[in-house]
Amino acid sequence: MRAVSVTGDAIVVTSLLWQTTATALRAGDEAMLIDSPYFPDELEVLPTVLAQAGFEVKALLATHGDFDHVLGRLAFPELSLGVAESTMLRLQNKPGEAQRDLRNRDNEHYVTRPRPLALGGTQTLPVPGKLELGGEELELHRAEGHTDEGMAVFAPWLGVLITGDYLSSVEIPMLGPGGTVTEYRATLARLAPLVERSETVVTGHGPPSSRDQAVRLLDEDTEYLAALERGEERPRLPDGRDDAHQRRVHSDNLAGGAGAAAR
Ligand SMILES: [Zn+2]
Repeated sequence: MRAVSVTGDAIVVTSLLWQTTATALRAGDEAMLIDSPYFPDELEVLPTVLAQAGFEVKALLATHGDFDHVLGRLAFPELSLGVAESTMLRLQNKPGEAQRDLRNRDNEHYVTRPRPLALGGTQTLPVPGKLELGGEELELHRAEGHTDEGMAVFAPWLGVLITGDYLSSVEIPMLGPGGTVTEYRATLARLAPLVERSETVVTGHGPPSSRDQAVRLLDEDTEYLAALERGEERPRLPDGRDDAHQRRVHSDNLAGGAGAAAR
């Protein structure tokens, strides 16, 4: 796991699995953790790493309901997890889905955990809406298309935008459960003005981007979605994302999404 401070009040932690990111934001003497790393040892050291940096985590958020983003309570079991109303609906309509997906992935990697994932303390947040943190205000924006639920989180006072699984430099747009090209495109359109207001854009998988890099990723992803919609079997994939695995993601997308690669 790698921890990088992107501003004095934002730390991005990157998991060894899929470069999954978790972001801690601080305002005043309060901090919040958004999303989660995957491996048990990463989750175990996370509270210490953040406390040593002076981040006292008081709340947890998940950008969306995929299992690799909702593991925060394994690090902070006493805190509740805040999610968009759309994500809460997914958790309620598919009870046990995140736990099952986590168990399958754990089995694949021979990972054992000290305790099971409990999502009982989950709370619904209004999206679009605002959320108070230490006297500052976070903006919550709808972000759907990768799945049929979720949100992006913008911290205007830090210039940090946390997109969930959008605008990644390591994976092409991925249609997971309930994801659609139409919703995905609407989300990119919603993210564009937020990117303009950002200094740093943190995606769910891969390194954080500068505003300029994120603008380029947004253009590339828009272009990719057009090729996907045209049903192109071998579209040109963006530089750095043109490998055998991303080609498989594309095949899954063409087949209607939510393939084995979905996460
Ligand atoms: Zn993800």
